Amino acid sequence: MTTAPEPAAIPASQTAFERASRAIPGGVSSPVRAFGAVGGTPRFIAKAQGPWLVDVDGLRYFDLVCSWGPMLHGHAHPEIVAAVAQAASRGLSFGAPTEGEAELAEEIIARVAGSGVEQLRLVTSGTEATMSAIRLARAHTGRAKIVKFFGCYHGHSDALLVAAGSGALTFGTPSSPGVTPGAAADTLVLPYNDARALVELFAERGNEIAAVITEAAPGNMGVVAPTPEFQKALAEAPRAHGALLISDEVMTGFRVSRAGWHGLCSKAGGLGGVPADLVTFGKVMGGGLPAAAFGGRAEIMAQLAPAGPVYQAGTLAGNPLATAAGLASLRLADDAAYARLDSAAEEIIGMVVKEFASVGLPVAIGRAGNLFSVFFSDAPPNDYDAVRKTETWRYPAFFHAMLENGVHLPPSAYEAWFVSTAITDEALDVFAKALPAAARAADKASAER
Ligand SMILES: *Cc1c(COP(=O)(O)O)cnc(C)c1O
Repeated sequence: MTTAPEPAAIPASQTAFERASRAIPGGVSSPVRAFGAVGGTPRFIAKAQGPWLVDVDGLRYFDLVCSWGPMLHGHAHPEIVAAVAQAASRGLSFGAPTEGEAELAEEIIARVAGSGVEQLRLVTSGTEATMSAIRLARAHTGRAKIVKFFGCYHGHSDALLVAAGSGALTFGTPSSPGVTPGAAADTLVLPYNDARALVELFAERGNEIAAVITEAAPGNMGVVAPTPEFQKALAEAPRAHGALLISDEVMTGFRVSRAGWHGLCSKAGGLGGVPADLVTFGKVMGGGLPAAAFGGRAEIMAQLAPAGPVYQAGTLAGNPLATAAGLASLRLADDAAYARLDSAAEEIIGMVVKEFASVGLPVAIGRAGNLFSVFFSDAPPNDYDAVRKTETWRYPAFFHAMLENGVHLPPSAYEAWFVSTAITDEALDVFAKALPAAARAADKASAER
């Protein structure tokens, strides 16, 4: 699928990729980094500062991936680096409690006030957060089934690597070899934004369902915002049948507002926040180091070991460097920071819309506040089936034209673009200059491989 041209001079990245591919499957530690969806050689990064990445060939890129979300303040922010350095000088990990963990938990709980989060358990990845939230929901309800939505990503635990089976309301099927049909059978998969399907499923089998898990606003099939009607069904259907709602804010949390998607919805004129029973966090809350969390009402959280019988643990959970990075990042994320993020997103979206209009190629922007993605379609898709019908085959040509002109976009059409508070006029200028040729490349791209 490598239709994209290989740029002239990235010998160091090419050598690094060949070397890495011998020692590491596919040469990467997480699949999307390998450029499989866009073709070509991934840039190996040597260093980064503010909005810029610098690769091993010394080429500089305006970064709109931001480590897939965590780098809310751009790269190597001096205050965050100083907080981590200070923490490091006091020791890297203790395997014993620290005050920083309570401070970070308090900061998060205070930010999401009104969302139902009274207590929080720190973990090291979003995958662990959702996996543990599901175990807790099953223990709390004494039920086995969970409901997820097609196109939502919640990390790579077995129960969540499940796709829709054939037919509307069937058991899920494993979406990866190695996930057993048994593990998948307890996961029911519904189309996203389909309030009726959710209500009908609960009417039929509500008493078997422990929890519904949903991305607060999906960003892992591109950005697909929930409709008000769907949010209403999420708020009502599980509750009416004694099931829990797990809102996965790993991507949206502390990115789209001070209080994540919940905060954005709760604002006057918003969609209305959906009060969840359990909420998962990650990405931004670790400031670039591995930290994630899940939280909820104290009565539910009290069932976790050692307070209760539900087992959950982590050698490096609440790591002092990660809590220091997370706290420093959140403390910098004030109202002015969110205003900057929102205006950077507006500016980039404005440029994209204008350029494609002048080329005459329809694009639609999927949006959840400052989190957005660009779809090659007339209207923003509402669910994953619609996302898959967009002209994603145009993306590799667009992506590579941007990359060659110094803009590092997500290497997949199915991913969100991430802005940071570190975006400068110079970075926006690089984007503006790269855009016309890339828009033309997308327009000229052909669906044939
Ligand atoms: C990134 C992500 C996860 C998984 O987090 P990891 O830290 O990569 O394990 C889970 N849910 C959502 C919504 C995410 O965006």
